[in-house]
Amino acid sequence: MDKQKIKNTHENIIIGGGIVGAGVLRELSLRKEDTLLIEKGDFSSQTSQSSSKMLHGGIRYLENFDFALVREALKEKKTWTELAPHLTKQEMFYIPVYKESKWPLFFVRIGLFLYDLLSLFKNPKRRVLNAKQTLKDLPQLNSKNLRGAGVYSDAVVEDSKLALECIYDSIGPYSSAINYAEVESVEKEGELWKIKVLRTLNNKEETYYSRNLIFATGPFTDQLLKKLEVKWEPKMILSKGSHIWLSKGSLELGHPMVLQTKDNRVIFVIPQRDAILVGTTEKALDPNSDIFNIQASEEEIKYLIDVLNQYFPNSGVGKDSILSTFAGVRPLVAEGSKERGKVSRQHKVFSPEKNMYVVVGGKYTTFRVMAEDVVKRMFKDQGRPFKRDLSLAPLKKKSVIGMYPRESKITEEEVKKIISEEFPKTSEDVIKRRLSLLYPDELQLSNSQIEQMINDFRSDN
Ligand SMILES: Cc1cc2nc3c(=O)[nH]c(=O)nc-3n(C[C@H](O)[C@H](O)[C@H](O)COP(=O)(O)OP(=O)(O)OC[C@H]3O[C@@H](n4cnc5c(N)ncnc54)[C@H](O)[C@@H]3O)c2cc1C
Repeated sequence: MDKQKIKNTHENIIIGGGIVGAGVLRELSLRKEDTLLIEKGDFSSQTSQSSSKMLHGGIRYLENFDFALVREALKEKKTWTELAPHLTKQEMFYIPVYKESKWPLFFVRIGLFLYDLLSLFKNPKRRVLNAKQTLKDLPQLNSKNLRGAGVYSDAVVEDSKLALECIYDSIGPYSSAINYAEVESVEKEGELWKIKVLRTLNNKEETYYSRNLIFATGPFTDQLLKKLEVKWEPKMILSKGSHIWLSKGSLELGHPMVLQTKDNRVIFVIPQRDAILVGTTEKALDPNSDIFNIQASEEEIKYLIDVLNQYFPNSGVGKDSILSTFAGVRPLVAEGSKERGKVSRQHKVFSPEKNMYVVVGGKYTTFRVMAEDVVKRMFKDQGRPFKRDLSLAPLKKKSVIGMYPRESKITEEEVKKIISEEFPKTSEDVIKRRLSLLYPDELQLSNSQIEQMINDFRSDN
C-alpha cells in the first residue's frame, strides 16, 4: 500500500455527521476503534438541527401503544439530562384541554399516569389542573370552553450542540471527523471499501478506505444508497416538519405547551433560547424531492400562526412576531400502510452487504441506543463480544457557548475559541450551530469578520 492509502485507511468509516453518526463515532472511539466520520455539510447541519429540540418519551406515541419506544426514550431522556445538564433542561409541559379537544381531561390523566409509570416514576410530579388553576399559570390562554390542563415533565435540548459535543468527545487518538466532505461513490477493493469524497469547499477529490462502512444518513439514506448503487430496497417515508421562532415577549408564556389541533395533531410551543419555538407541521414529500435545502412554506407558517391564535386569541401573534423559520425531514421507516403520524419512531439496523451497516429511523432522543445497536450488530458479525452502556460516561469537552439565556453578550474571544476548538468552516457554522444565535445584534461581529477570523486561523494552522 502507498503512504497516502495507509494514511487514509481506517477500520471503520461512518457516513453522516448528524446526531446518530456522532453517537456511532462516540461508541466506536470509546471502544478504541480506528474510525473516521465523513459529513457532507457542517456537522449537525441537517435534521439534527431542525428538531423540536425536545428529549422526550413522546407522550402522543402512547396513543399508538408504542410503550417500548416511550420507555426507551424516557430512559434516554433521563440519561442525557444527567450527562449533559449544560445543554438540557427539564420543563413542565402543559396540555390545555377544551370541551371539544380530542383528548378529554380523564384521558390526559390516564396518559400522564402511564407516561410516569413508563419512566418508573422518575419524572418530576405530574398534575391535572382545573380551568381556574390553568388560567392562573397561563393567563393569556383562551378561556372559552376550557376544562383544565395536564402538566407533566419532559426536557429541552440544544440539538446541534449535543451532536457537536459527541464529536468533540470522540476526536483523539482513535477517531477523527471531517465536515464539508461529500461521499460520491463507494466500491469494494479487495477486503476494503473504497470511498470517493468531494471536499465541497475547495472541490478537491479524496479517496478513503475502510474495512467497515456505516451509514448514519437519516432521511437521506434511500436517495444516497440509490446513487451509490448499493443493493437496497427503499424504506424511508419522507415527512417534512417546519417550525417558527417567535421573538420573546410575543406571548406571555412561562411554560412549554402541547396544543391539540383541529386536524388531530399536536403542536409544541416552547420558551427556549430567549425566544419561543413553535412546531411542527407534517407534510408528505415525494421520495425524489431535494431534501437538503427545504424551507418552511407560507402555508405551514400560516397553519402554526392560526393554531396560536386559536389558543391565544388576544396575544396579537402574527407574521411580524416571527424571528426565523426552519424545516427538517423526519427519518421515518415505512411500515405497511400506516398513517404518517402513526408510523413508529423505532429504529432499525440493516446490513445490505458484507461489512456494510445502515441505521435508520429512531428519534433524536434515542440516538445513543441506535449507535449502540449498530455497533453491537457489527461486533456480532465479527464474532466479538459487545459491552453495553460504555457511552454512559460523561462528555469530556463542553461547547464554548452552552444554553441561553445568558447574562452578557458574546465576546470576540469566545468566537476565537470556537474557531480554534470547534471545527467551523463558515460564518454560518459559527452563528447557527456553535452560537445558536437568534438575535444577530447580540454579536458585534459581521459575517465577513467571522469568515476572516476563520481564514486567519486556518492559514496559521
Ligand atoms: C420537524 C422535526 C422535529 C423533530 N423533533 C424531535 C424532537 O423534538 N425530539 C426527538 O427526539 N426527535 C425529533 N425529531 C427526529 C430527529 O430530529 C431525528 O431523528 C434525528 O435528528 C436524525 O438524526 P440523523 O443523524 O439520523 O440524521 P441527520 O441529522 O439528517 O444526519 C444525516 C447526515 O448525513 C449527511 N449526509 C447525507 N448524504 C451524505 C453524503 N453523500 N456524504 C456525507 N454525508 C452525507 C447529511 O448531510 C446529514 O448531516 C424531529 C424531526 C423533525 C424532522
